[in-house]
Amino acid sequence: MISVELSSRQIERFRRELRRAGNQEIGGVMVAEHLEDAAFRLAGFSVQRSGGSFASFVRKPALHRRFLSRFFQQTGQEFERFNYLGEWHSHPCFVARPSSQDIVQMQALVDDPDQAALFAVLLIVRLGRHNDLEVSAYAFRRGCSPVEAEIYCADELLSAPREPSFRVGKSRLQLGYRRRRR
Ligand SMILES: [Zn+2]
Repeated sequence: MISVELSSRQIERFRRELRRAGNQEIGGVMVAEHLEDAAFRLAGFSVQRSGGSFASFVRKPALHRRFLSRFFQQTGQEFERFNYLGEWHSHPCFVARPSSQDIVQMQALVDDPDQAALFAVLLIVRLGRHNDLEVSAYAFRRGCSPVEAEIYCADELLSAPREPSFRVGKSRLQLGYRRRRR
């Protein structure tokens, strides 16, 4: 089971950005510390405030490349431990779950042989009615079907897999995989 841990500060930052963005989708890339097997701790995320509408988000790669290279520099290029985790965007007008288009796009990203990432997480966030953060995450791996991940804040479980809606075939990620160096 893939798990991603968020800090309360990071949740606060998502909520702040979501409030500010209103009905516009926003998003970015995420970096993480690989704790063990399939456990990751979110180490940071970039925020792109433009390029989104109420129903779509188009990533501007240059912005996120800069964010990533800064992160790799700060963490001493220790890629086995600190690496790209994946993508996030908001669904201000829809449930905080990936759309079928989100899933197709994300699978294409990890299946793209020109991409270094063999594995990536897609995180969808949304402000709930009481300003709480609604969140879900799916893990994608090259040649495999996506699986839903667990999301924690400290010890509190924020989101766990429900009934699979689109999972097919043998879909569990192998534990102990290695991230490719970039
Ligand atoms: Zn989406």
